[in-house]
This record gives sequence, C-alpha cells and structure tokens, in this order.
Amino acid sequence: MSKEGRYARQTLIPGWDQKKLNKSTAIVVGVGAIGSYVATILVSSGVKNLILIDFDTIEISNLNRQLLFRDKDIGKSKSEIAAIRLSELNPDINISFYHEKMQNVPISIYKKSDIIVACLDTFIGRRWINSLAVKINKPLILGGMFAFLGDVQVVLPKKTACFECQPLVAERELAQACTPFGEEREKDRKDKEEEAKLPSVATLSAIIGGIMAQEALKLLLNIGEPIKNYLFYDGLHNATTIIELARREKDCPTCGELYELEQVEFVVNKNNTIKELLVQLGLQFGLENPDIMIKGKILPHDSKIQELGIRNNMKVFVMDKNLASPIKLKLKIE
Ligand SMILES: [Zn+2]
Repeated sequence: MSKEGRYARQTLIPGWDQKKLNKSTAIVVGVGAIGSYVATILVSSGVKNLILIDFDTIEISNLNRQLLFRDKDIGKSKSEIAAIRLSELNPDINISFYHEKMQNVPISIYKKSDIIVACLDTFIGRRWINSLAVKINKPLILGGMFAFLGDVQVVLPKKTACFECQPLVAERELAQACTPFGEEREKDRKDKEEEAKLPSVATLSAIIGGIMAQEALKLLLNIGEPIKNYLFYDGLHNATTIIELARREKDCPTCGELYELEQVEFVVNKNNTIKELLVQLGLQFGLENPDIMIKGKILPHDSKIQELGIRNNMKVFVMDKNLASPIKLKLKIE
C-alpha cells in the first residue's frame, strides 16, 4: 500500500492538510497514562517528528491505563519503550526520547517543537513547563486526571491565560506548593511520595489524552477553534465544563507585561536578611526554595540587605525550581 494510504481516511476531512503534519514537531512531556494516548495519536496521524520526555520506569501498577507498555516491560524506561512501540506503529515518524527529567533536557530541544503537550500530574511540573513554554513562545497543552475527573488547558502564550495566571489545581497540591521555603516537613515529603499513587482509570487517560491530541492536531493543522481555554471533564456524570480563564496580562509573574518590562517593585526592609527576603518572595509567588541573583551573583542567605550594597531600583532575578524562567523585579528599599 502506498504511504499516502496510511492517512487516506483523515485526508478526506475538509481543511486537513497532511503536508503540514509532515513538517511538524511535537514534544510530549510525560509518557504515562495520558501521554501514551497522546503520543499514539500523534504518531498514527503522521506528525513527522516526535520527542518524548520521561524519566520514569514502568511499574506493574501502570499497566491498567498506559497502553504502550506490556508486562515484559516492567522496570524499563517509559520513554525508550514508548519510542520503540511507536516506531512499530508508524516507521515514517522520527521519534527521539529523553529518559531525563524535563528540567534537564536542553532548551534547544524544546525550541525545535511546534507544540508542547504536557501530561504531568504535579503542580510543580505544570508550573515549570508553563514558564518554559511562555519564555520560548510555544503553544502548550496541559492535561491531567484524578479518578473520573480530568482537565485540559490550552495555553497560547501572551494570548490566553497561562497556568500561572490562575492555577486551577486540587487544594492539596496548592497547599504543598505554598509550604514556606526551607520548611519541608516530613508530612510534605510523604505527600510527594503519594502523588505517584493517584487513583486512575484507563477511560480517563483515553478521553483526556484524546482531547489533548485533538487540540494539538487542530493547532498544527490550523483548523477549528482551540479550547478557550480550560476544560473540566467529569466522567461519572458525563459533564464537560469549559471556562475561559482571564489572562493576567499585566501582573502575571510568568506572562504579564509588567514583569517583562521589569517594572514590578518589591518592597524590602534594609535590616532584613536575604533569608527573610526569600521567605517573603516564597509566600508572594508560591516558591519552594527560591534564590535571588543580582548582576550574576547569588546573594548569601545570612547577609543583611544593607550590607550587600543593594540600592533602590536594582534589578534582581528570583529563581526557583518551579520556574524555568526567573521572575524579574526591582527592589524598593525602606
Ligand atoms: Zn500568565
């Protein structure tokens, strides 16, 4: 059968241009339950270049919903096995994989993509990939699930609300993110370990993964309307709710113009130590372990602000593992 035959049925759809997919590159971050479905659909549909990122290994408890993996794969790398299975499905696709934390994958790889699809179940992970996508101006599709509930957010940087504009997440996860810096307690560590054990069912992986892949294909083909911009799905009641979140176009620390123009002032007391300033910043921006940098130097935590020669209106960068891109501020010293 000719190569065209593979896509014969989808090219019957008005507006479908297979050549566009043949020039496209998609990144799928998280190749677990939802990511398995997203990657399978993108590969079978002919998205020419696919980059998979996941540092996890396959466990027996994954097999109820992660369709790319088999019993014999237990203990192996998710991203590697997914790449092998997907190339069997469609050998015409260039598939590469990174068995790495997404934070360790070079930014140049992300820049190659036309779209980023992030299938991540943690608040921290979503925040990080959101700040990266806004920084490099790539459309981002976020999705997650919890038992029979699922959500999808389409972020078109500087056009629609980003994840940071109004993070809609479970209260438990939000509470975690707001734990004051330097105070990770035993309970928090246990909560993080529990994250891997979220209740999950294959039907939600298929539905949410299907919606995310569909949004990706629509954006790559430039057909239809993207979700505006947050979809919530309740599988037990077959209810779908779509809300357009308001973009904080001025004061969102990730996509707002005031931060981009370095016009946001942060008021500090000259007698405070850097450590005290970092606690304030942690609470203000929901950061876990921030650091502050001026002129390329990380400030020592025990020094007082007035001892460091910091002047009014000095520009500082606030960095944290939650953010791919630092927050830019001006310090106002009182
Ligand atoms: Zn934003």
